[in-house]
Amino acid sequence: MNKIQFIDLQSQRQALKKPVSELFDKVLTHGAFILGPEVNQLEDDLTKYTGALETVTCSNGTDALRLLLLAHNVGPGDAVFVPTFTFASTAEVVAQSNATPVFVDVCPDTFNIDPQSLKEALQTLDPSLKPKGLITVDLFGLPANYDALHEVAETHGLWIVADSAQSFGGKYKGKNVGTLAQTTATSFFPSKPLACYGDGGAIFTTDPKMGALIRSLRNHGCGEDRYDHIHIGLNSRLDTLQAAVLIEKLKIFPDELKRRHEIANFYGEHLSHVLEVPQVPADYDPAWGLYTVICKPEQREALIETLSNHQIPSNVYYRKPLHLQPAYAHYPRAQKQLAQAERLVNSVLSLPMHPYITDDQLSHIVEVVKGFYQSTKATQKTAEAIS
Ligand SMILES: *Cc1c(COP(=O)(O)O)cnc(C)c1O
Repeated sequence: MNKIQFIDLQSQRQALKKPVSELFDKVLTHGAFILGPEVNQLEDDLTKYTGALETVTCSNGTDALRLLLLAHNVGPGDAVFVPTFTFASTAEVVAQSNATPVFVDVCPDTFNIDPQSLKEALQTLDPSLKPKGLITVDLFGLPANYDALHEVAETHGLWIVADSAQSFGGKYKGKNVGTLAQTTATSFFPSKPLACYGDGGAIFTTDPKMGALIRSLRNHGCGEDRYDHIHIGLNSRLDTLQAAVLIEKLKIFPDELKRRHEIANFYGEHLSHVLEVPQVPADYDPAWGLYTVICKPEQREALIETLSNHQIPSNVYYRKPLHLQPAYAHYPRAQKQLAQAERLVNSVLSLPMHPYITDDQLSHIVEVVKGFYQSTKATQKTAEAIS
């Protein structure tokens, strides 16, 4: 059995070696390294895949969010609501825009922003701040509760930006990620479900006014002419070479997604009696960017060590919620304690998840996890018998 990777980029590289190097040669020959024809082709392919009105690629997922805040003209005095249990980018872009991120708690079963906590955050918001928008996160690949969130957003006149960096390929009520909010940001960082060989990102929109604006903002706010500047923007274009990688990877993406589902089903079937496996509510279809279980806080480090002793990598996403991070602790939050997130950081554990895990490797992983729980139970019984 080969060594198990947490995320395996090499097996996929072998599978795509020929088509990717042929397309690389083509790009190296035509030499349009910035906004070359492959960038347009990828944007068309992504639009077809998601069913969005338009796709605009950019340098990375963080910039995708940043560009959307620029498009919404977010600035000082504006409040933007974000879940606290997420990667830093979600709140970082708000602070970078000189606006105020307001931290909201998450649901204990889905890990995603809790509409009830959002309502409380709106009610208790400092009156000197203007509630402007909401950034939802589809954590670990599971879409957020968009129906409930759209309802709160409409009541309070908020726009929604979906941070779908971990959920490209996911669905909610039959609709693809990319169409669940007026604007969606995603990332093609190497560990995300659809990934390139470096940094990359994209914005999907269903709003006809947004496409042209974002296209201008990602390229120094240019107008019809490259040297006309009608907005203050960023340099945030996707390299043509990265677009070429993504064109080929998108072709095999549906098969990879199928395999991710098989792996999640296997884990769920074999592990649900020893720890809490991810719950997928009806009508949700996760992209399985990560497979995250919940274990007892006092057992987590021992389980990580046991896995590691058997050459099985695992990771904790995340060990601290953003509202307790030094750089973000002074920003407002829905409640004094965001209790669910504060509890989850001590109990979550992500197991290896990528489309190239073999059946043998999967069996090995579940045997090691089950073995861990059998031996802890035995140890507990012995301890009880002695005392
Ligand atoms: C990865 C990630 C981002 C940022 O994407 P980059 O391409 O690394 O900038 C933003 N939000 C979430 C939830 C992420 O997981």
